[in-house]
Amino acid sequence: MRRSADVLVVGGGPAGTAAAILLARAGLEVCLLEKGTFPREKPCGEYLSPGCVPLLNRLGVLAALEGMEPQPIRGMRIETAGGTVFTGTYPGDGLPPHGYSLPRYRFDALLVEAARQAGVAYLEGWRVVDLVRKGRIVAGVVADSENGPQPFTAPLTIGADGRNSVVARRLKLFARHPSHRKVALVQRFQTQAELGDLGQVYLGRKGYCILNPQGAGTVNVGVVVDQRDLPLHQAWEGVFAGLLGAYPQVQAKLSGARPLNPLWVLGPLACHAKRVAGKGFLLVGDAAGYYDPMTGEGVFQALRGAELAAEIATQALGRGDAGLQTLKRYGVAYRKEFAPKNRVCQILQQIVSRPRLCELLGRHLEGRGEHIEELMGVVGDLLPPQRLLRPAFWTSLLMGKAHP
Ligand SMILES: Cc1cc2nc3c(=O)[nH]c(=O)nc-3n(C[C@H](O)[C@H](O)[C@H](O)COP(=O)(O)OP(=O)(O)OC[C@H]3O[C@@H](n4cnc5c(N)ncnc54)[C@H](O)[C@@H]3O)c2cc1C
Repeated sequence: MRRSADVLVVGGGPAGTAAAILLARAGLEVCLLEKGTFPREKPCGEYLSPGCVPLLNRLGVLAALEGMEPQPIRGMRIETAGGTVFTGTYPGDGLPPHGYSLPRYRFDALLVEAARQAGVAYLEGWRVVDLVRKGRIVAGVVADSENGPQPFTAPLTIGADGRNSVVARRLKLFARHPSHRKVALVQRFQTQAELGDLGQVYLGRKGYCILNPQGAGTVNVGVVVDQRDLPLHQAWEGVFAGLLGAYPQVQAKLSGARPLNPLWVLGPLACHAKRVAGKGFLLVGDAAGYYDPMTGEGVFQALRGAELAAEIATQALGRGDAGLQTLKRYGVAYRKEFAPKNRVCQILQQIVSRPRLCELLGRHLEGRGEHIEELMGVVGDLLPPQRLLRPAFWTSLLMGKAHP
C-alpha cells in the first residue's frame, strides 16, 4: 500500500468523493481515506436539491443514479404553524426540473464506486487522527486502522471529513455558531400513507419537521429544534415522539408506520471553519461549514465546493505550488459561491423563528406564482440566491394583497 500521493482526501462523503474523482481525472494521484466501511449510513434528510443534478451529470454519475430509481422531488409543500399552506414546484423551461430523494447509504456508495473507477486509491477503515506538518505547512495526515496509526504524505490534503472535521480541528479552525444551536432527530419509516413527490415542511412554533418521500411508502422524517427546547432526562425515542406531537398532520401520516433504522440525533449542527484554505490544505463540504438542514443545500454545497477545490488544486499542483498563493484563491471562490445562499438561509431562519411573521409571509405567498417560483428556484439551488437578497422581492411580496 502506497502512503504518499499528490493529494490526500479525508472523508468519503459527497465532498470527498467528488473532489477525488475530479482530481484523479485531471491526472493526479489521489488517495482517499475514509473511517467507515461502505455502504454506511449518514444521518441526513436524504434530499438532493435540483441544483445537484447538473453537478452529478458533470461528475459522470447521473445515469447510474437514475438507474437506482430514486424518488424525484418536484417541489415543496410548506405548512405554517397557523395552518397556511403553500405549494411550489421548481421552476424550469419545458420539463420541470426536480431533485431526488434516496437513502444516503445508496447515494454515497455510488460515489465511492465512481471514485474507485476513476483510479482513486480508496482506503476505508482508516480514521484520520492527526496531521503531518513540515513547519507550518500541512504535509499529510496520520490515519489509524486496525494495524495502528500510519503517516500518509502529500503536497496537498483536502479535509472533507464532515461537520466534526478532524482536519479543521487539528488546524484550530473549527468554530461552532455562537447562537444557532439546532438539534435534529431523524428516522426513516415505512408507511401506508400516500406521500407524493413533494418535500413536506411543517413549521412549528418551536422548530420544524420535514418529510422527504423516498418512494413505495418510505419516508425520511426529521424534526429540528433549538437545543434549549429539548426536554432533559428522557430517552431519545420518547423525545422524538413528544416533538412529533406538535405536528398532528405528520403523526397521522406516520400512524402504524414501521421505523427502518435506529433514530439518529445530531447537534448542535451549525459550525464553520475560520479559514478554508492554507499552506498544504483545503477544506470542502461540511468540513468548511454547515448551517441548517431546512433548505437542504448541504449535498449541493459539498459537490460544488469539490468542483471549486479540484480546479484550484489542479492549478496549484500543476505549478508545483501547494502553498498559500494559489490555494487561497479557493477561499475567495468559496465565499463568492456560498455566502449569498448562506445569507438567504439565515434570513429564512429568522422568519421561521417568528411564527407571526411566518404566518404573515405565508398568507402573502399563497397564490403568488412569481414569488413562489423565485423562492423555490433559490432554495432548490437553481437560481442565484441574490434574487432573494433584493429588498424588492420582500417589499413587493408584502405590498401585494395577502390572502384573507
Ligand atoms: C439532520 C440533517 C439533515 C440534512 N438533510 C439534508 C438534505 O436533505 N439534503 C442535503 O443536501 N443536505 C442535508 N444535510 C446536510 C448534508 O448531510 C451534508 O451537508 C453533506 O453530507 C456534506 O457532505 P460532506 O461530504 O461534506 O460530509 P459527510 O457527508 O459528513 O461525509 C464525511 C465523510 O468523512 C468521513 N470521516 C469523518 N471523519 C473522518 C476521519 N477522521 N477520518 C476519515 N474519514 C472521516 C465520514 O465517515 C464520512 O463518510 C443534512 C444535515 C443534517 C445534519
